[in-house]
Amino acid sequence: VSGVGKTYRRRGKEPVVAVANAELSIPRGGSLAVVGESGSGKSTLARMIVGLEEPDAGEIRIGGRSMAGIPRSRVERLERAKSVQMVFQDPYLSLDPRIPVGRAIDDVLTLHTGRRGAAARDRAVELLAAVGLGEEYVAARPRTLSGGQRQRVAIARALAVEPALLVMDEATSALDVSVQAQVLDLVAGIRRDQGLTLLFISHDLAVVRRVCAETIVMRRGEIVEAGSTEQLLGDPQHAYTRLLIDSVP
Ligand code: ATP
Ligand code: MG
Repeated sequence: VSGVGKTYRRRGKEPVVAVANAELSIPRGGSLAVVGESGSGKSTLARMIVGLEEPDAGEIRIGGRSMAGIPRSRVERLERAKSVQMVFQDPYLSLDPRIPVGRAIDDVLTLHTGRRGAAARDRAVELLAAVGLGEEYVAARPRTLSGGQRQRVAIARALAVEPALLVMDEATSALDVSVQAQVLDLVAGIRRDQGLTLLFISHDLAVVRRVCAETIVMRRGEIVEAGSTEQLLGDPQHAYTRLLIDSVP
């Protein structure tokens, strides 16, 4: 992410600088946390990184490939999906409430990994088990699940793509502590096995410390501090980072 900026302009309103001149990089297989108060631009940055929103300035590359523009061909769309997947705070942004869980994951597996039929189903069951959902959930429709269960399905679905980069935007914030730990362990395992790169947006500094080697702190659209998570949380340089750490009960 190089020199990336985004300003929202709406008629009759002051422009909002959501992200200003952002610079960051994550090495392949690395993990970066983004923390910062509400409205600091974390989700805007994430949406630009996954190509859901165009920056007004700067450049974003994943694995050397530019994220500029809307992919036109089917092949380009598949390549983009393979390079990055995002899990949102709201699981319904990635799940159809009516499609049974097993089928939704099978479809993704077939499209992105070539597994079909029994091979796809076996892998779907494996992924669901990994997020703590038993085989009985294969036939369930997301609308009949709890919020936490839905979110686990959304994570399993994103992981089914085997993306190079996974962006999680407050994706585990609504889960109870034990399920959250389970999901984070799953992501850690996949990171080890597949070299998955992780961009992790969270309010929870304790979770960030467990999950990410590096952290950036955003405030009013700017990255005010960046460094190793241990160093940043242990010895914050910026007054705002100190404030953020002190605000944790
Ligand atoms: P939170 O922690 O609450 O999720 P955030 O750090 O993710 O906050 P963003 O959602 O990126 O913050 O928002 C950054 C700023 O941009 C805010 O001032 C927000 O009001 C504004 N903003 C975000 N999306 C839009 C939009 N589609 N149109 C106009 N303004 C927007
Ligand atoms: Mg947000």
